[in-house]
Amino acid sequence: MKIFTACLGTETHTGAPLPTDLAAFESSHLVRGGAHGETPHMFGAPLVLWRERAAAKGWDVVEGLSAFATPSGLVVRKVYEDLRDEILETLRAAMPVDAVILSLHGAMVADGYDDCEEDLLLGIREIVGPDIPIGAEYDLHCHVSRRFLDDLNALVIYKEYPHTDFRARAEELWTIMQGAIENRIKPVISAFDCRMIGLYHTTREPMRSFVDRMTALERTERVLSISLGHGFPWGDVPAEGTRVIVVTDDRQAEGDALAEKLGRELWNMRDEITPRYLELDAAIDAAVAETAGPVVIADMADNPGGGGPGDSTFIVRQLLQRGVGDVAVGGIWDPVATSICVGAGVGARLSLRLGGKTGPSSGEPLDLDVEVKRVLREHSIISLGGSTRYMGDAALLHANGMDFIIHEARCQNTMPDFFESFGLDPARYKILVVKSMQHFHGGYAPIAARIIYCAAPGTLTWDMSKIAHQKIARPVWPIDADPWRGNVERPW
Ligand SMILES: [Zn+2]
Repeated sequence: MKIFTACLGTETHTGAPLPTDLAAFESSHLVRGGAHGETPHMFGAPLVLWRERAAAKGWDVVEGLSAFATPSGLVVRKVYEDLRDEILETLRAAMPVDAVILSLHGAMVADGYDDCEEDLLLGIREIVGPDIPIGAEYDLHCHVSRRFLDDLNALVIYKEYPHTDFRARAEELWTIMQGAIENRIKPVISAFDCRMIGLYHTTREPMRSFVDRMTALERTERVLSISLGHGFPWGDVPAEGTRVIVVTDDRQAEGDALAEKLGRELWNMRDEITPRYLELDAAIDAAVAETAGPVVIADMADNPGGGGPGDSTFIVRQLLQRGVGDVAVGGIWDPVATSICVGAGVGARLSLRLGGKTGPSSGEPLDLDVEVKRVLREHSIISLGGSTRYMGDAALLHANGMDFIIHEARCQNTMPDFFESFGLDPARYKILVVKSMQHFHGGYAPIAARIIYCAAPGTLTWDMSKIAHQKIARPVWPIDADPWRGNVERPW
């Protein structure tokens, strides 16, 4: 047997200011020929796992490109086409293969391509023909189109947000694909469109119980996998939306019924599962008023994991204006300021213009008199599930009673290692400011006295009805108050 694997992904915020270029992949994850290193990137880790499982069966594996970019705006057309063509060329050279297994994100949009995954899959299907099983693992912030499912045999999506289960889902997909390759099972996919968009934290009820229920239902005989594709509300494409996916062993009707049942349950919970955010002033008031520490202020609007540049200054400016000290800011993306501080070296004191450079959604730059406390070159940090994220050159600065971590490569703060790797103890501060929507939660909840989800101005608007949408298939809640009225078909 011979298996072909590959990874290609990013999560495209179609309104974000920065285009996703080749450097965005190179500075995040770009591996050829399976050279993943000891601690693979989160999206490369499934390929390593599938290689090990295949080796245990004595099967050959050809590993294509493995590439992921920290989310930004539209992927540059030629960049997408080159990466896609490289995967297809490797596959062509590897033919004949017995299966294809892909680690994808599911929300990659390029200039001229609303659904890169659908386009890539179409190319793969053309090469392998109709009878070879193809399976994919998706991030739960994905756009699942009907056409994508038509060409696919198995889809398994992360269940957890923060995404701590990428290895468990890769294992699950392998089990299904192995059964298909050995002709023991015939996976078929059922899908139900919930006609809604939103962001749902699986760390809170009632989402927590919904995820647990999906897992419990998977233990029934013919159900191979149940997933919820939450969707990515800042990617304006026709297939945007929340979908339940059920993979059964050749039980299409049963799968369809189960997907619809779960989807309607979720629809009925829509108000409860929508997170609550505090506006900027209220968030700072609440953080300052809290007597215990640390208070974690999550700057969801500038989350680099969702297309925010990572250089907005709104929260820090408020803290500075109010004279709040004992704060650690992790971090501010500013390659120019970082290179200045790296060049000046540890102990240097200088006037620095920091952050606020990408555009109006980043606010105004901060002018600070800083002391460079530490410099780390080509730095990587421990992220979700023991994976790594690249920060590039980075510096720890002190100014106005606050500590700042500034860095060269865009990088979300997902774990306390973001601070700890600079010798800081995040638990000792009154306030921690992290640029993250929800991935920080697993690592910071154990040390936080309080977590505040702050709706500061920025690239990611929390109010789904206020995000600029033109391409999304309608009707869909909350853009349309009742998308089920008259049962108008939603073309996704
Ligand atoms: Zn995600």
